[in-house]
Amino acid sequence: MNALAANIELIRDRIAAACQRAGRDAGDVLLLGVTKTVLPETLDAAVAAGLTVFGENKIQEAQAKIPAVAGRARWHFIGHLQTNKARAAIALFDVIQSVDSVKLAGELDKWAALDGKTQSILLEVNIAGEASKHGLHPDDLPAVLAEINRLTHLEVSGLMAIPPAAADPEQTRPFFRYLRTLRDQLGLPELSMGMSHDFEVAVEEGATIVRIGAAIFGERKRYEPTE
Ligand SMILES: *Cc1c(COP(=O)(O)O)cnc(C)c1O
Repeated sequence: MNALAANIELIRDRIAAACQRAGRDAGDVLLLGVTKTVLPETLDAAVAAGLTVFGENKIQEAQAKIPAVAGRARWHFIGHLQTNKARAAIALFDVIQSVDSVKLAGELDKWAALDGKTQSILLEVNIAGEASKHGLHPDDLPAVLAEINRLTHLEVSGLMAIPPAAADPEQTRPFFRYLRTLRDQLGLPELSMGMSHDFEVAVEEGATIVRIGAAIFGERKRYEPTE
């Protein structure tokens, strides 16, 4: 087995173990492979290893990559979406996880209607009120959901959040628990939370979608100033 296939298998095993600890069915957790910066040929190998749902955070990068695995994978958008990219997002993605305003939702609804599509979306929540992050304030969720529910070509499936970075995943547990509470209050099915360093805690707290990049594809290269 190649390293990529081994990584995917290991993550699936760890998801299954976390499900067992929480008395959940492993089939209820979707493993989303986050492929930002990953090359198209690696995508092909990931599909061959049985990973078929991917997440991208930039429209242009996704447009370049999606054809490499056309018809063999499904795609979720997980980055900040500008309204002028709404049309492209509707054409490319099965789920748009990062809807953070009624204005963006309105734009998405307009293009989905023109495409004759019902677009599945998640609402992104700024779970810790961080100035550096996008997402809706938890208090605004009921009113925003009510407005978006009036749009006939969008289907709100759940909530997504990126909690504050923490060295110890246990520190993130309260944020995962809070997002689940919010999701339950709204009566929605999906809960997208948990990344490479904290997905097991997220699964224990009810995640239905985990978004994993580095633990599958390796650490992304960062820009390092040389002086
Ligand atoms: C990059 C990214 C991830 C994956 O992060 P890893 O730490 O590489 O697993 C998950 N969600 C979002 C929104 C991301 O941008």
